[in-house]
Amino acid sequence: MPRYEYRCRTCAQTFELSRPMAESGDPAPCPSGHEDSVKLLSTVALAGAPVSVSGGGEGGGGCCGGGCCGG
Ligand SMILES: [Zn+2]
Repeated sequence: MPRYEYRCRTCAQTFELSRPMAESGDPAPCPSGHEDSVKLLSTVALAGAPVSVSGGGEGGGGCCGGGCCGG
C-alpha cells in the first residue's frame, strides 16, 4: 500500500498515511484530528538544470556626458 504525505491546513502539521491509491485523494485527518488537509506530492522530480547567469556586456553609461543628467 503506497504512502502518501499530507499537510494539515489547520495546524500545518505534515503526516503520512498508508492508504489505497483509490483513496489517495480523500480527506485525511491529521494526528490532531483536523480534517482540513491537503495531499503533498510524494515524488518530486527535480531537474538539476544549471542556472545560467546571463552576464550583461553593456557598459551602462551614455547618459552622463551627453548632457542629460548634468545641469
Ligand atoms: Zn491538524
